[in-house]
Amino acid sequence: MSYRDARRAAARANKALILDGEASLKSIQKAVEELRSITIIVSAMDLEQHDLSALTADCDDDLKLIYYAPQLSLWHRQHSILHEFSHLLLGHEHTAAGITIGEFSRSFPTEPRKLLARKGFTDDAEQTAEILADLLADRISSNGRQSPDEPGGLQEAFG
Ligand SMILES: [Zn+2]
Repeated sequence: MSYRDARRAAARANKALILDGEASLKSIQKAVEELRSITIIVSAMDLEQHDLSALTADCDDDLKLIYYAPQLSLWHRQHSILHEFSHLLLGHEHTAAGITIGEFSRSFPTEPRKLLARKGFTDDAEQTAEILADLLADRISSNGRQSPDEPGGLQEAFG
């Protein structure tokens, strides 16, 4: 997939996401949940033994758990969560290979079907999710919700 195709796919998904009210992490989460008929639970990871900024646990057809690294800056945290929302909005959990992270799986009440993070996705999926995360971040920042020193617009891809 070329960058242009990835951009087009991301733009299409962004356009299809109709928000109820102002753009925020919460309203974007709600819209993704409604569009995909899933429930998303976002929480901080309680371990720091790997270098992932965020990951998604695919528990079943309806339930997806997103974990972000607690030490991230606010901006990086938002971006990482938007990136995971983007994967879910694009349905990438169906095509991703899934990964194993040491002891991490043990901390779940029920074993997730798949853990989804960088290495489990194709480059195309990563690129499209990254562009879509930027588009979603733009929607949030155009609400004026971010503080002035936070960067707006397209950010460098981080994986
Ligand atoms: Zn990703």
